[in-house]
Amino acid sequence: MLSTPNARATPDADVIIVGASFAGLAAARTAAMRGLRVIVIDTLPGPGARIHTTGILVREAVDEIDIPWRLTRSVPGVRLYAPSLRSVDLFAPGYAFFTTRTAGLLRWMADEAEAAGATILWNHRFTGAGHAQGLVRLDGSGLTARYLIGADGARSRVARAFGLGRNHRHLLGVELEFAPDSAVDARFLHCFANSCFAPGYIAWAAPGPDTIQVGLAVSRGRPNIAAFLAATEDRFGWSRMKVVGQRGGIIPSGGLVAPAAAERVMLIGDAAGWVSPATGGGIRLAFRWGRRAAALLADHFQCGGPDPAEALARELPRFRLKLMMRRLLEFAPPNAVLDLVLGTAPMRSLAERVYFHRRGGNGDRATFVAWLEGQRTAAGDERGGPATRDLLR
Ligand SMILES: Cc1cc2nc3c(=O)[nH]c(=O)nc-3n(C[C@H](O)[C@H](O)[C@H](O)COP(=O)(O)OP(=O)(O)OC[C@H]3O[C@@H](n4cnc5c(N)ncnc54)[C@H](O)[C@@H]3O)c2cc1C
Repeated sequence: MLSTPNARATPDADVIIVGASFAGLAAARTAAMRGLRVIVIDTLPGPGARIHTTGILVREAVDEIDIPWRLTRSVPGVRLYAPSLRSVDLFAPGYAFFTTRTAGLLRWMADEAEAAGATILWNHRFTGAGHAQGLVRLDGSGLTARYLIGADGARSRVARAFGLGRNHRHLLGVELEFAPDSAVDARFLHCFANSCFAPGYIAWAAPGPDTIQVGLAVSRGRPNIAAFLAATEDRFGWSRMKVVGQRGGIIPSGGLVAPAAAERVMLIGDAAGWVSPATGGGIRLAFRWGRRAAALLADHFQCGGPDPAEALARELPRFRLKLMMRRLLEFAPPNAVLDLVLGTAPMRSLAERVYFHRRGGNGDRATFVAWLEGQRTAAGDERGGPATRDLLR
């Protein structure tokens, strides 16, 4: 349990949050809305100044914090390719993924946190901290707070400073951004199973709001995006498209870290291992549980609630099934096997479950396919793949 706040020392903030990204900004806004005095620090010069993520949101993430529509592009289907580039189209009526203007999304989140009352200090690096007079005190700046939240990503400095758990299993991802091109049918996230260039994960081509994001992640070795581009050149013609950006980084894939908290300190987001070991997605979890961590902190300070880190640990998902799936994925079956099974009915139904789970699925498939067909651009499908009328087979 936390000790009673020390009346002698007046802290600079109730909570200092290290990291102004998805988890830190979601937590900052909620904490500030609940009346806590919040300081966020980040090494970056401004919000979204460096992006390492593809930034695709599942529908639940969009619902969680009501993201402005202008920052997203809805992508209703998944086109899953075998190594031979034979593909199946997957969807759940009424469901969509959302690609994002990711830097814009982070700028909007920073504005929201500040509008709620949080102070964000850019160009401000966390180097270490200690406890003093019942508070947490940052090295260097000397800033003090009643609580410290480490939302500083997969290589958390806060975790290191307080001897907290770290994720030792990772995926390594890289991505190129291309200028928009009709070769990539924008109704689909294009996902490529191929154990040669994406062992343990997939490669992807995602129609973003402004660019086409093409990348891959691997669970071992180094990602070789040139090999992927070469293998899919005939279908998509990457070589005639202009590269306008690149991103990349590590994705924790070992589940929750332990311990994730110390006296007056807790980790959230990637720092805490809040990433699905199966899909590598962490943004929705950062939104959901970042907000929840802040609410529990406010309950603790304002309503005599339990230790926020202990309460949060009782609520968090354990990812047991997803950790098992990660182990299976790491076997990386030979491409010949993937080619054989990917088009089969059981595999299609399994893939639809993995991508869409219980989401959507209540609508009528025929009505949805007719709607999807209406979204089709003639140029896109000529090169991008089969027409959606084939989907009902
Ligand atoms: C290639 C790739 C693609 C991905 N694609 C997706 C996807 O499509 N969808 C999805 O849901 N997830 C995706 N993920 C995962 C997702 O990006 C992360 O789960 C998410 O970014 C975690 O947010 P976070 O706020 O916890 O940490 P981060 O986004 O890593 O942010 C950490 C912040 O802390 C700051 N910081 C770090 N150290 C310090 C320090 N010492 N002092 C001050 N500040 C510091 C950093 O500058 C940064 O702003 C992807 C990841 C990668 C690498």
